[in-house]
Amino acid sequence: MRTSNRSGLDGRGRDKLAAGRPASDQQWEAIIACDNASNGAFIYAVTTTRIFCRPSCKSREPKRDHVVVFDSARDAAGAGFRACKRCKPTGDRLPDQEWVHQITDYIDTHLQEDLSLESLSQICHGSVFHMHRTFKRLQGETPVQYIQHRRIAEASSLLARSGLGIAEVAAKVGLPNVPYFTTLFKRKTGMTPAEFRTTAMKNGEQDKGKDDGDASQVNPNPVDADRR
Ligand SMILES: [Zn+2]
Repeated sequence: MRTSNRSGLDGRGRDKLAAGRPASDQQWEAIIACDNASNGAFIYAVTTTRIFCRPSCKSREPKRDHVVVFDSARDAAGAGFRACKRCKPTGDRLPDQEWVHQITDYIDTHLQEDLSLESLSQICHGSVFHMHRTFKRLQGETPVQYIQHRRIAEASSLLARSGLGIAEVAAKVGLPNVPYFTTLFKRKTGMTPAEFRTTAMKNGEQDKGKDDGDASQVNPNPVDADRR
């Protein structure tokens, strides 16, 4: 069973998060003003995204409750946070491959949520254009294609293996509009969700035991780049 928390890091990370401290009023002012002069004085991290930044970072203003402050990038990294792609608080450029990995990781664990390119680019700290281009170059498909492909694969798996109704499956993969879900599913797999389920059940009976077939393989060639 999938959980949205990535295990392993979390328990340990939470303990270490205690090392960060709430931003003082002065630090908070510097963060919302993107104050260049405060760079070097402190680093701030956002607990919801687990990314840390320089005070001057132009990324979306975080909620103050979610901000913790560290003396250095090293301390923030030691507490389990990752360096922001945009303001590069460690001074090193985050390799594109690692950045794309952060993005796919985020998508994989948040399929049920609204994953617009705008929100994704803010969460992952890069422009929509740069994210789209870099993602496509390294991943071989656009972020939107990747999201659709993951959603349809997850839906296929749920249809084949769970007793959930179609509307429930649709909602679980972040496509709560059932007609839209059905249309997209059919476009990607050639079958409606109901047809897919019937076929999967029939195949399951025929192949009993010999194949624990991965229903996520139904979409080898996601070609269209349309946005929702
Ligand atoms: Zn940043």
